[in-house]
Amino acid sequence: MPSTPKTPQNALRQIPASLFRAVVEQADIAISITNANALIEYVNPAFTRSTGYSSQDAVGRNQSILSNRTTPPEVYKALWGQITQRQPWSGRLVNSRKDGTRYLADLTITPVVDEDGTISHYLGLHRDITDLHRLECAVRNQKSLIESVVDGAPLVLALLDMEDRVVLDNHAYKVLMGDLGMTEPAAVMLEAVRGELGNGFGPFSPGSHAFLDRQVRLDRAHWATPRWYTCSGVWVGAHKDAADAFFDDKAEAYLLLVAKDVTRQVMEQERARVAALQALMAEESRRQSLRESLSAAVYQMEGPLNVLNSVVTMMGRRGCDPAQAALAEALAAGQSALETLRAAIPGTTAEAPGLVNINEVVRDVLDLSSHAFLAAGISVSWQPQLALPSIAAYPTRLRTMLKGLVDNAIEAMNIKGWNKRELTIRTHGDANEIEIQVEDSGPGVSPELRLKVFEPFYSTKKASGHHMGTGLPSAQQVALDHGGNIELRNSEQGGCLAKVQLPLRQH
Ligand code: FAD
Repeated sequence: MPSTPKTPQNALRQIPASLFRAVVEQADIAISITNANALIEYVNPAFTRSTGYSSQDAVGRNQSILSNRTTPPEVYKALWGQITQRQPWSGRLVNSRKDGTRYLADLTITPVVDEDGTISHYLGLHRDITDLHRLECAVRNQKSLIESVVDGAPLVLALLDMEDRVVLDNHAYKVLMGDLGMTEPAAVMLEAVRGELGNGFGPFSPGSHAFLDRQVRLDRAHWATPRWYTCSGVWVGAHKDAADAFFDDKAEAYLLLVAKDVTRQVMEQERARVAALQALMAEESRRQSLRESLSAAVYQMEGPLNVLNSVVTMMGRRGCDPAQAALAEALAAGQSALETLRAAIPGTTAEAPGLVNINEVVRDVLDLSSHAFLAAGISVSWQPQLALPSIAAYPTRLRTMLKGLVDNAIEAMNIKGWNKRELTIRTHGDANEIEIQVEDSGPGVSPELRLKVFEPFYSTKKASGHHMGTGLPSAQQVALDHGGNIELRNSEQGGCLAKVQLPLRQH
């Protein structure tokens, strides 16, 4: 005998009707079957358990026996509008049990059509979701309470995922975004902290600190006052909500950035620091020019003394010459004077290395040079990277180096008849290095002189008499001492562009 092919229809026919009845009877969900006018024809035991209406109570009555007058009429209108169009409807209704108590029902109504496509019955399935709803409300209330507290907090708060995307923030953060005119200051702050820490944040453990109390300076373009924030990062673990992560209890890592605006406190310290700095820089500049003058004098004396030395040596080789003794004496006196001069050259000020923010160094130099800019009619464009990681460096030496480059730029443009007087200073940093660009609109440095200007005592301004030519070599020395470099090139506008590159960490 040929076997019956396995089709869904055949499979259905093979299930006895009694099995269908048992399934519906024993299902743990309230089931009702009504005619096309919502008159109940059947209810299962789970329906009786949920509503208190037995089969005898319910059959022959309209489903509206469950209706509670608190469900808005528009909901019923929508329900009927859909099911009469042979579309299933799902939603939530407030129902009354037989004893008058209320519960929230999650209901699905499916129209049942006969062979002509006419609705003959409706199938209703519903669950009591009062507890679930209570829980949802509690979560919602808690969320809005937390949001009010977070929004009212005088702290910048932002929750970031592992791609540095902000997934939650507060009012103070939004205000900061508006003030800075940028989308994600949190990512900028984290980048600056990361650059400083070098070996990354603390390991992920919910509730622990990824980093603590790191000060981040935000330098806005032009001359806006910088802002300072004390930033901490706290690891937050959240459970994944994707279905495939249902059995995975590993928490997903988020970072809560907490930033406190400490601008006012830092500004007070800044005023005192800048006053002390002005005195320090004046002293440093005095020492520098003394160093330059004495070094130049030593350099100028060395030439003739070397010649004299050769002459004395030659005469000595030829035999005893009465003039040789006199020359040797003059040579010794000259060398002794040279040593005295060398000893008088003031050394560089000893200073301990510390964590230095290059934006702060540049701002200091620009502030210190403001009178010189005014006097020479130079307009300055300050274009800092918003936040830079701090580097381990000698701050005074870096300031002196930058001051030297800025002074060079001022001098290059401050020539009679030179109309274009613009100085642009930019900073840029990444995980490896920080670059400072000092660009002027002066006449520039010709390619053949670009290396020569770094030679000691070489100056293109010798005629003026002010220049000994030690500024660029000593600036280069400062850069080299920090593991970096200075390079000169002509800018697109034709002026000189000095690029200072300083590595974040010296190897
Ligand atoms: P009703 O006079 O019954 O109707 C309110 C609105 O629905 C009116 O706008 C009316 O025009 C429209 N309407 C009513 N009956 C029809 C119809 N036969 N054809 C077209 N439009 C119609 N209600 C609950 O409150 N709780 C339930 O758990 C629930 N379960 C249901 C299960 C099934 C299978 C079905 C078919 C309906 C169910 N209903 C339920 C809806 C119920 O039938 C009532 O419509 C509702 O309770 C409102 O009752 P009412 O007396 O306030 O107004």
